[in-house]
Amino acid sequence: MKYEVVIGLEVHTELSTKTKIFCNCTTAFGGEPNTHVCPVCAGMPGTLPVLNRAVVEYAMRTGLALGCEITRYTKFDRKNYFYPDLPKAYQISQLYLPICTWGHVEVQGKEGPKQIRIKEIHMEEDAGKLIHDPFEECTLVDYNRCGVPLLEIVSEPDLRSAEEAVEYLEKLRAVLQYVGVSDCKMQEGSLRADINLSVRPAGSQELGVRTEMKNMNSFRAIARAIESEAQRQIDLLESGEKVVQQTRRWDDTKGESTAMRSKEDAQDYKYFPEPDLPPISISDEEVERVRTALPELPEQKKRRYQEQLGLSAYDTEMITSSIYFVRLFERTAELCGSPKEAANWIMGDLMKLLNDTGTLPENMAFHPDSLGKVIVMLAQNKISRQSAKKVFEQVFKADVDPEQYVQANNLGVVTDTGAIRAAVEEVIAANEKSVNEYRGGKTQALQYLIGQSMRALRGKAPAQEVTRLLKELLGD
Ligand code: ADP
Ligand code: MG
Ligand code: ZN
Repeated sequence: MKYEVVIGLEVHTELSTKTKIFCNCTTAFGGEPNTHVCPVCAGMPGTLPVLNRAVVEYAMRTGLALGCEITRYTKFDRKNYFYPDLPKAYQISQLYLPICTWGHVEVQGKEGPKQIRIKEIHMEEDAGKLIHDPFEECTLVDYNRCGVPLLEIVSEPDLRSAEEAVEYLEKLRAVLQYVGVSDCKMQEGSLRADINLSVRPAGSQELGVRTEMKNMNSFRAIARAIESEAQRQIDLLESGEKVVQQTRRWDDTKGESTAMRSKEDAQDYKYFPEPDLPPISISDEEVERVRTALPELPEQKKRRYQEQLGLSAYDTEMITSSIYFVRLFERTAELCGSPKEAANWIMGDLMKLLNDTGTLPENMAFHPDSLGKVIVMLAQNKISRQSAKKVFEQVFKADVDPEQYVQANNLGVVTDTGAIRAAVEEVIAANEKSVNEYRGGKTQALQYLIGQSMRALRGKAPAQEVTRLLKELLGD
């Protein structure tokens, strides 16, 4: 029998507002434990929440960018549960009237583009963090993250494979970054996903029994967890057993999941409308104001890069995949005046450096003007291409200033034509064999002589000038 895998994702993203959702504490990641806290976010009795306006604005921006309806009368609900990382013993969330409903993300399905529906987006507060100390055999709690604003983005069960799920997450992350609501740093947990997964006989319209794997924060782990869980469920059905609805924990080192709790012991959250916060009314004007202020979104940017800047489909896809590439690309193109050259450096040297050093685009740490400066120096023949690559590598690794670095390391091109001529003459004299080969019609020999001359000049002469001189001196 053939099976179909059915996946729905619940994505949590931490918003990059300056302050928390219901108090004035900072949302900054990390910090000494329990230093970003106040009586409100530490859940002291008698304190009252005050909603941060920016959270509503960020939620609306996200919803509109994803094609959602904005709920005009929205309110918060209280989700009750006991856990030591949640000092109030309830989370303020949204259940009945979430701020956004019905949007979508387009992915490239196996049979062409496909819309993944978003059922709703709601606002809520994050919980703290428990730190288990295996040496002291105790657990410590850090409340810094309590009250950091979150959006939960819930998809319909429209995804059919690990590849589709990862593409959906990549597209979603790009939109969140473009509209500036989250940095989406997965290693810092500011983007995490719960995977709901079931399988069913191919062609069936009914949904199978699902399991859930919570708080996954790497694309690779998500893809592996999906493959593994789909296979586990298919194996169960094949051997005549049933899938049990349960929450499972994925262990990425072992490459397997284990059952945590089943439906029977699922929590009853005893939701009720949050009594400490008034409902929010959003006017049509408000919605239009946010809509018109939206920045250019990934799909629009892709079209513009191809149609107006003449970039290839492949380069466009790569560069628009991250706002960090987009920012670097646009600044570099502006500085050097050539979008094509800017794209070539990003697709070539930058991608290689990111790859070799295992750096994510969000962690690039050099000045945004530096790549543009390198390209300008190269275009003005102030440095050779070889040196330009060397300088950019130092920009990437140590954030050096390109102009200062060139000067300090004496990388400026040799403009003294006499010196270039002397070096080329020496190479001709020392490589009789290649010279004869070239004269005998073997054109590759010229490449060798160019290489030798460039080496003699320590890569600092313009290659065209060296080539021109060689040809002249060899009587071409
Ligand atoms: P809950 O509130 O229990 O988490 P929801 O109905 O809100 O349940 O669904 C949560 C997520 O699970 C959604 O993304 C939804 O698309 C997905 N989902 C629901 N049923 C299934 C199923 N049978 N198979 C796969 N995904 C499912
Ligand atoms: Mg759920
Ligand atoms: Zn606080």
